[in-house]
Amino acid sequence: MFYIAPSLATALDALGDYGPEGAAFAGGTWIMRAPIRHQLLKARYVAIGKIPELTEIRIGADTIEIGAAVTHAALASALADLPEFTVLAAAAGRSANPAIRGLATIGGNLATSDFSAADCVPALLCLDAQTEVSSRSGRERMRLDTFLKQRSTLAPGRLLTKVVVPRSRAKSAHARLPLRKAGDYPVAIVSLSLDVDTTNHVRAARIAIGSVETVARRWERLETALLGRALDPAQAADIAADLAGEFAGRDSVEVPPWYRVSVLPGLIRRATAAALGT
Ligand SMILES: Cc1cc2nc3c(=O)[nH]c(=O)nc-3n(C[C@H](O)[C@H](O)[C@H](O)COP(=O)(O)OP(=O)(O)OC[C@H]3O[C@@H](n4cnc5c(N)ncnc54)[C@H](O)[C@@H]3O)c2cc1C
Repeated sequence: MFYIAPSLATALDALGDYGPEGAAFAGGTWIMRAPIRHQLLKARYVAIGKIPELTEIRIGADTIEIGAAVTHAALASALADLPEFTVLAAAAGRSANPAIRGLATIGGNLATSDFSAADCVPALLCLDAQTEVSSRSGRERMRLDTFLKQRSTLAPGRLLTKVVVPRSRAKSAHARLPLRKAGDYPVAIVSLSLDVDTTNHVRAARIAIGSVETVARRWERLETALLGRALDPAQAADIAADLAGEFAGRDSVEVPPWYRVSVLPGLIRRATAAALGT
């Protein structure tokens, strides 16, 4: 059964009524491929793509708020003129292919717990994003890393409704390595946001790694190692090579675990050079 919700309240009511038998249907790009993954479909879906509140992007002085049903294409286009969000515009604008980007939503990208190669997850981790989760009993704000820990066990009836990203003067970049040129999941992803002074010394760093392990996470030891240094892409790559042993690498049919880890220094070099504009 497929219910097209006209408003957030009706979507939350329907999801609450359906319980474990129901789920949100956003862009449908992951759900539609369930049979290929040998996964069962839910008995009931609540389509959330027509809900005005969930398809808005609000750009304020201190934050941007992104509705969960905003598509990758709409997000990349809305952020095109905001250099501080280069990392997120690239994550949304370079993932998958144009047809998928026109349908796939930011909420679907964050909520799919068995998808390790989601581009927007590391991009939003490095931007210190918060998520809003709603149900008919209220709304709750939580950090993105907290949401990632909870998402596979979100109680029925709860919906990711918004992503809130603080604005800053940091320079950011997104580097990804697909095996082919397009339509391919990335082997590894580096998303970073760096606050540097006028001589390019690092005042603060947030670096997130996606697709290497099952769930994207910050690389805090590398962040600490870069603090106070003049940012130099080759040196950053050398430090990354020294520290990369903390990643185990996930196994998959595409590449062996060690390969995902071995490409990290090169991606760090690319991302820091891009952030510096060199
Ligand atoms: C050929 C192909 C290539 C791809 N390449 C990439 C890539 O390079 N990088 C990348 O990042 N992604 C890639 N993807 C994945 C794509 O981005 C995901 O399919 C997409 O992010 C899922 O979003 P959706 O809106 O279609 O979610 P849906 O398919 O609608 O939903 C996915 C899951 O999330 C749940 N869900 C959706 N929205 C919410 C919400 N608001 N709250 C709670 N639960 C929710 C659904 O119930 C479902 O379980 C690719 C997909 C395809 C088909």
